[in-house]
This record gives sequence, C-alpha cells and structure tokens, in this order.
Amino acid sequence: MSTTYRLGVLAGDGIGPEIVPSAVEIATAAAQAAGVSVDWVTLPLGATAIETHDNPVPEETRRTLAELDGWYLGPHDSVGYPEPHKSALNPSGTLRKHFQLFANIRPAKSFPGAKAVCNSADLVIVRENTEGFYADRNTYAGTGEFMPTPNTAIMMGIITREATERVARVAFELARSRRRKLTIVHKANVLKLTTGLFRTVCQEVAQEYPDVTVDDFHIDAMTVHLVRRAQDFDVIVTENMFGDILSDLAGEISGSLGTAPSINASATTAMAQASHGSAPDIARRNIANPVAMILSGAMLFEWLGARHGDEATARAAKIIEKGVAETIASGTSTRDLGGSASTTEFTAAVIKAITAGI
Ligand code: ATP
Ligand code: MG
Repeated sequence: MSTTYRLGVLAGDGIGPEIVPSAVEIATAAAQAAGVSVDWVTLPLGATAIETHDNPVPEETRRTLAELDGWYLGPHDSVGYPEPHKSALNPSGTLRKHFQLFANIRPAKSFPGAKAVCNSADLVIVRENTEGFYADRNTYAGTGEFMPTPNTAIMMGIITREATERVARVAFELARSRRRKLTIVHKANVLKLTTGLFRTVCQEVAQEYPDVTVDDFHIDAMTVHLVRRAQDFDVIVTENMFGDILSDLAGEISGSLGTAPSINASATTAMAQASHGSAPDIARRNIANPVAMILSGAMLFEWLGARHGDEATARAAKIIEKGVAETIASGTSTRDLGGSASTTEFTAAVIKAITAGI
C-alpha cells in the first residue's frame, strides 16, 4: 500500500487563482492514473491572507506547510500589497528563507510543435538560492548592500563551502539521473575569491561523481554558448544571481515564460513554482498559460518519487509531462504560444489526453 502525500495549495495573486487550480486538477488526474493518493490542503497566503489575517504569510500557514510533503505556490505580486507588506520580503522569498529551500531547479526544454529559438534544448539549471550576491541581508552581518555616502552604493556577496557543497550534490545527483554532463558557471577570473571558491568546491564534489563529465565557463561566455548551442548542455550549476539571469535566458531560448517550470527544494521538502510572475495584465481573463505551473507540479512529483523511492509518483510526473506535450503537439495551446485555447480549454484538453492514455 503506497503512502498518501499531503500537498499544500497556495493559489497566489494575479493569474495564480487560474493556473494553480488547473495544475491541481491535472495532477489529480495523473495521480489517479498512476495509483498515487494525494490529499490537497488549501492554505491562505498573499493578498487574500492580508485580508483575512493582516499578514501575507500567516503563522498557521507556515506551521501547516512544515507538516506537508511539499506544496504548489502560485505567483505573488507583493508590489500591489498595502504597506508595510509591500516593503517586506515577498511571500515566495519568505518561504524560501523560512524552509531553507536552497536549490532552485529550473529546466529549459523545448516542446515539439511550439516555436522557440532552440528546438532541441533539454537542460536544467540548478541555482544556489540562499547566498551569492543576493545573500539574505540579515543572515550574514555586514553583507548585502549599503550606502556609506548618499552618492555611493556598495554591494557584497557571500559564498560558503557548506552552501556550495549542498547545491553541488543536488546538481551532480540530477546529472547522474540524466545525460551525466555538468557545467559549472562562475566568474573566477574577476570575482576570484567568491566565485573562485564556488568553482573549487564544485570541482571537489565532482571527485565523488567520476561518471559525470564536468566542464566550466565564465558567466559571460556561458550566455554566448547558450544562445549558440543550448542543446549541448545537460545540468548547469551556478550561484544565485548568475542562475537568476541564466535561467530567464534559457527559458526564453527554449520556449516562453509561460512554459518555464521550477521547484525550490531543501533536503526534506519542495515547493513547485512557475518561473514567471503574477501577470496582472492578463489576470481574470482565462487566457493565462498554465503549463509552467502544471510542469512545476510534475517536477514536485518527480522529486517526491526520488525522495521516497516511489515509482508510482515518478510515473505520475511522466503522465503529466506526456499529457502536456501531446496536447501542445496536437495543436492546442494558449495565446502566448500562438494558439487560441483558454486556460480552462487547455486544462480540459490535457485531462482528456491523460484519460485517453490510461
Ligand atoms: P515578477 O516581478 O512578478 O516576476 P514580471 O515583471 O517578471 O513579474 P510577469 O508577471 O512574469 O512579469 O509577466 C511578464 C509578461 O509575461 C507579462 O506580459 C505577462 O502577461 C506574461 N506572462 C507571464 N506569465 C504568463 C503566463 N503564464 N501565460 C501567459 N502570459 C504570461
Ligand atoms: Mg519576473
């Protein structure tokens, strides 16, 4: 008898209440097809939580999330919140920090049938999520940004052996489950100490994975290689800011913002989160592309399957991916991909593909 997973549902702002239910509906169909049992737990977060709890990240939401196996997070638009919530860390950042979700895993994969700069990209960026030049301002005294005079601003970054090692292990394990190639991205010719340490520690971890082929590039050179030959890369590991920039580039090369999924993981829990924002310009019109959120959910199922050695959950992930790929290949897609399907029409088409495939 397999376990029942308890997964949180945090719908978010903007298009969140359209794309999150779509992703949950599709995951429910896939879980059923694979024989996986899931209990969904809806929790308040973001704009709705400000109304009900006067807090975008209520204490009870944190407590419940700590007991779950993982969760779906919709996009949040904290710029639209009233003060003091507007100036505070956004809900996504608060959860990443609170749960120490140190690995941001962002695949970039082209879909057959969808237009893209590179039609054969299939890579994953593993971005260190807790330090670098976006280091949490309160964790390490003296780091971050400050202004010694009104006309001078200074930024500092931090790289530690501990944080680099743990994210490097996630990247090497991932490479092992894929095409066994790993690229370290840094800027060790200029940021010699910080990104130099990042490269050195990754290369040390590489000794434990002799079956994985390793190379490394400076961040600037890497942008050129990605544009020219994205198809040659498998897993890329890099620090926080480089990973932020590189994953937007990789996402755009391989498709559109509306198809770019991600998870944020610690050793014990994971949060599925689309790479795009809350898209307030198209909210409540039933035209948002739910694919990024749907595939983020598939990544969470894959992560759960690997963590628990549970093949049925890994199978559910594959069923979701196949349902989406088949639907797009058969010509049904939302406007951002050049199609005309609404969010709900696209969702129904994926469920039909999943049900037909049983
Ligand atoms: P944030 O700071 O929250 O990341 P952003 O400024 O990066 O926000 P997004 O919300 O990601 O902006 O939106 C950028 C553009 O992409 C907008 O025009 C939006 O409509 C479009 N977009 C984003 N996500 C989707 C989606 N899922 N489906 C269709 N269009 C989308
Ligand atoms: Mg953005």
